[in-house]
Amino acid sequence: MTARRSRIGLILTGGTIDSLGLSRLDLGWYIEAGLKLPAADLLARVPELDAIADVEQVPFRRLPSHALASSDWLDLLRLLETLLEQDGYDAVVVTHGTNTLEETAYFLHLALKTNKPVVLTGAMRPASAVSADGYLNLINAVRVAAEPASHGRGCLVVMNDTIFDARHVTKASTYRVEAFDGRDVGPLGFADADGRVVYYHRADRTERAGGEFALAGLEVLPRVDVVVSYVGADGAMIRAAAAAGARGIVSAGTGAGRPTPAEDDAFDEIHRDSGVLMCLCSRVGSGRSVRSPGLARRGFVAGDNLQPWKARVLLSLALTKTAEPDAVQRLFDTF
Ligand code: ASP
Repeated sequence: MTARRSRIGLILTGGTIDSLGLSRLDLGWYIEAGLKLPAADLLARVPELDAIADVEQVPFRRLPSHALASSDWLDLLRLLETLLEQDGYDAVVVTHGTNTLEETAYFLHLALKTNKPVVLTGAMRPASAVSADGYLNLINAVRVAAEPASHGRGCLVVMNDTIFDARHVTKASTYRVEAFDGRDVGPLGFADADGRVVYYHRADRTERAGGEFALAGLEVLPRVDVVVSYVGADGAMIRAAAAAGARGIVSAGTGAGRPTPAEDDAFDEIHRDSGVLMCLCSRVGSGRSVRSPGLARRGFVAGDNLQPWKARVLLSLALTKTAEPDAVQRLFDTF
């Protein structure tokens, strides 16, 4: 008996993978040129996909990933829910700009309730470049999406033959093809040269968090800002974020998560006066920020080993349901 071919949805959200440069060596200015492949061309340029699965492109808006807003995330989430829960797709591949790919991956990872594979990929070189990496990244993403062992692993990111989990993956190089990194835990596996998808370990924290948030009918997520600490930082950015309507602030603190004394004063003031919730993370890039008794007393939440911009995603989702620090800390300890 032959195995049924997977039916995979393909959503293009923009970024380098379907951008065009002004020449085959335009590896840097193409974003300014704003030239894109016609919407159907990326798929048409990779006929090899037909040997792997039935890939059907589903329309969505295409933007540079640094131009996305939380309303785009919510629309993308609803489209994925429709494709996977109602339209019977076995998996979905999302192409995405690499600048914020990890944030979208973590948002979808947290908000989706499905066990089916959702795989994000992108490219470091435009579709017109010599040695463009996007075509093989797309093929590998489809291989991973069609692989039965990819079920139940949460959202996955495939770049440069390497499979990462959505929680840990982060962009670690501005121009190298080997741009992504799994920080504290490394990659999960590879889509390798023989066409096989091989996993070597399973990420923890892949339980579906979707039920923890109140997203129905929401058009934008609660505002959460990130404030980076540095020598001599005062409380101006923190007070400005609160004045702009932030309901949460993530501190990218020094070391294991230390704001300056002036920032601490500002945090305590806006928490007391406006109930803004603070999450302490680190600007270091690896390792945990932990919740000391003093932080718990002051109503701070600790971001574990999340990068500050990923803690921002979880805090924003959490705030759709609660601003109670211990309840939010439980989410950070679980997801
Ligand atoms: N340089 C980015 C990319 O790799 C542009 C973006 O994120 O949209 O796709």
